[in-house]
Amino acid sequence: MLSSLEALRPKKRLFLGLLLASEVFVALMLYVAWRISYLGLENIFEHLPAIFAAILILVSTFSFGALCNMVLAVKGLPTLKFFHRYSFAIIKFLFPLAVRIGKIFNIKRRQIEGSFVAVSNLIFMKSGIKVPAKKLLVLSPHCLQLSTCPHKITRDPNNCKRCGGCNVGDLMKLADEMGFTFFVATGGTLARQVVKKIRPQAVLAIACERDLMSGIQDVYPLPAVGVLNIRPNGPCNNTRVDMDEVRRVLAQIVA
Ligand code: SF4
Repeated sequence: MLSSLEALRPKKRLFLGLLLASEVFVALMLYVAWRISYLGLENIFEHLPAIFAAILILVSTFSFGALCNMVLAVKGLPTLKFFHRYSFAIIKFLFPLAVRIGKIFNIKRRQIEGSFVAVSNLIFMKSGIKVPAKKLLVLSPHCLQLSTCPHKITRDPNNCKRCGGCNVGDLMKLADEMGFTFFVATGGTLARQVVKKIRPQAVLAIACERDLMSGIQDVYPLPAVGVLNIRPNGPCNNTRVDMDEVRRVLAQIVA
């Protein structure tokens, strides 16, 4: 598994690099705002510029700290747990800016989202999380089901007849073999409801870059690992998943 993750190294660098560039940009903007407002602040109270400067330095240092923590986690080095909770908040805040910076270099949003998933997966793997199969929830999007399949599987995946027409049947077979819970979610809201109901110890989510990025952040602090779907027919239509990749990830995380 690690070797396949190592192959994703350039993708991870992309996300972390754009996040760092966004941090630097925000810090510069804060500095410019401070310089412009300096005299006005001083007129209100002579120590106000210093107080503002201290707050801005604190916020910037904290934000850089969270990013450094992510880099340490990717490198497999010890991290400060304190920063973990705030990392996703900082990512949410900086991501739109990272996308804009990426646009300047002709980097697509999907590439950045994919890079986030690669970073998040590596942090998951390096943290050595292992859960019993029955405490693992595997979530897949509805578009994995063959569009012409007449069976309604979104409320109960057991309605799948395992006919081999799509990967839903493969995942059901694997769930029967290994004992994890498998669910097909039509969207983020249903996925969150399932997580709340089943209360797993970890989630393996199959989805596109965008849904994985939001889903991994939504279920935090629950550890989640993502497997990208394959879209030979374009987005959201008869998508597939590499079952060997799913098996490799399961072998890593199931105790
Ligand atoms: S494997 Fe299941 S979901 Fe897929 S087409 Fe066959 S019956 Fe339908």
